[in-house]
Amino acid sequence: MPPSIAAKRKQTAANEDGAARPALLLQWYDRHRRKLPWRPPAGERADPYRVWLSEIMLQQTGVKTVGPYFEKFVARWPDVDALGRASLDDVLRMWAGLGYYSRARNLHACAVAVRRDHGGAFPDTEEGLRALPGIGPYTASAIAAIAFGRRTMPVDGNIERVVSRLFAVEEPLPKAKPLIQQLAATLLGPSRAGDEKPRAGDEESRAGDSAQALMDLGSSICTPKKPACALCPLKEDCSARARGDQETFPRKAAKKTGELRRGAAFVVTRGDELLVRTRAEKGLLGGMTEVPTSDWLAAQDDKAALQQAPALKGVARWHRKAGVVTHVFTHFPLELVVYTASVPARTAAPEGARWVPIATLQNEALPNVMRKVIAHGLDR
Ligand code: SF4
Repeated sequence: MPPSIAAKRKQTAANEDGAARPALLLQWYDRHRRKLPWRPPAGERADPYRVWLSEIMLQQTGVKTVGPYFEKFVARWPDVDALGRASLDDVLRMWAGLGYYSRARNLHACAVAVRRDHGGAFPDTEEGLRALPGIGPYTASAIAAIAFGRRTMPVDGNIERVVSRLFAVEEPLPKAKPLIQQLAATLLGPSRAGDEKPRAGDEESRAGDSAQALMDLGSSICTPKKPACALCPLKEDCSARARGDQETFPRKAAKKTGELRRGAAFVVTRGDELLVRTRAEKGLLGGMTEVPTSDWLAAQDDKAALQQAPALKGVARWHRKAGVVTHVFTHFPLELVVYTASVPARTAAPEGARWVPIATLQNEALPNVMRKVIAHGLDR
């Protein structure tokens, strides 16, 4: 099945199952929201000027660096009108150190346009915002949601990661962006047909809080490495967590060096022995020892890989280990899901395979990838 169809099916299932997600997310945000200089106290609508300024600055760098620059800017120019009256040179001087001076020029041009063309008030729609200098689709969506409660979900890198894990989006980035955008929007909760204006205080008017909740979740809990799933408000309903391979999302398009290949490896023990076989003399890792594996394919599907498990009497079910083993060969990166099983004494090895004592594995010609697989499978 093409990944996009699989992902869309998952989306449908998630839409049915994940009805509680928007509320859970907001409840978590109400308790754990980060204190940031541009965020107003809980329950208060954000100032569009501060949201816009922070979003433009955050395009450059992280929250820590931006904080002091933001404070300096708002102390000197407390509103967009003041910034629109400032000289470009002053703005560039204050910006020094943040890099990308074209953004500072656009920042100034935008303030001038808001002052001149909009009476000093930012437009309150994505469309209106996008017409201003330096405001692209993401920034327009962020300002519309956070400052005006518009029902739109800006998707940054943090949100991309959280959403791709929640829904186990198999399609790699950047192709998956439209799908991730669509899935992220489901976290805003159901829409109220025929009622475009958000009502203050209700869940529907909190699009900005939903977006900021996801941003905070991605930066503090659903981190690229070792996400703290136990603390996550969405953990009961997260597809990648249920599979145990959350760190492998978002999937990324393979680099030019070779497409990512995926497969399964089978770590089978018989008492203190391990099932191994010898690879064909020719080809990758020729003549070396390995545990049985499925084919390694770019479009490998977990089910198809499991079907290539060695035929062994006495294996009632395969146990899938959490996580995956990754390895980078010269021409392609590889991801292996590891399955384990133990079989009764005297179980015969399938054709082409043999049992070796685990204690003498160091005498086998095991390539690094297999060392990793065995360590993972045997919990060593
Ligand atoms: S359960 Fe874990 S992987 Fe899933 S969204 Fe939460 S932190 Fe991320």
